[in-house]
Amino acid sequence: MSDDFTTTRYGEILAAAKLKYRFATFADCGGEGCVALWRHDIDFSPHRALALARMEADAGVVATYFVQPSARFYNVFEPEIAAIIREIGRLGHDIGLHFETETVGHSQELDHERRLVFQAGVLEHLAEKPVTAFSLHNPTTMVGISFDELQHGGLVNASHPKWREEFSYCSDSNGIWRFRSLDAMVADSQITRLYALTHPEWWQAEPMPPRQRLQRCIDGRKAWLENYYDALLATNERPNIGRKEL
Ligand SMILES: [Zn+2]
Repeated sequence: MSDDFTTTRYGEILAAAKLKYRFATFADCGGEGCVALWRHDIDFSPHRALALARMEADAGVVATYFVQPSARFYNVFEPEIAAIIREIGRLGHDIGLHFETETVGHSQELDHERRLVFQAGVLEHLAEKPVTAFSLHNPTTMVGISFDELQHGGLVNASHPKWREEFSYCSDSNGIWRFRSLDAMVADSQITRLYALTHPEWWQAEPMPPRQRLQRCIDGRKAWLENYYDALLATNERPNIGRKEL
């Protein structure tokens, strides 16, 4: 079913895609034969990203995980999150930069490319491997800023329109298929060059509506923060006044 965003279904799609395509990276996607660009933008959940990264590594395919240093839902400098990013890279996947122009301000004086390079450098340091590509977060809301070259700051622009001209494109933005579903595109023998954009948080163990899938990420983060604070006080033998008893 095309609206079944379960990890079980994901594994089935992956197996079918692997039979058909060579999985390529943005820096190396030329050549003959069927090619799939397998892109993940991590907007909400590095934990879900790691789950998919392990499935892909088990299946023997490579994807590119675009990490967002400006994310509201996670902090790349948090040791646990940095470890996840490193682990995804160690599984053999490429790490890219998911770049949000809003966070760089709106002054005409700002050099966006310099900030792009700075953020990529941060990710390289955390991932302990080169970052060779970037994708844009919410490109439709960008005002007065354009990243219209195929490369910026030495990084491949995965959001450039060229990719959509040369590849058949699908995206699971907002937890639904905006165009055709990935299932249908993998099954379509006419599609020899596929560009699949998925966001790991939309893929969960159980089927549920998109808002509920997002809520799982929020609730998981909330529970982790509460436990982190309580454990910190307990470790340091400090009083935890007002803590609700479980
Ligand atoms: Zn995004």
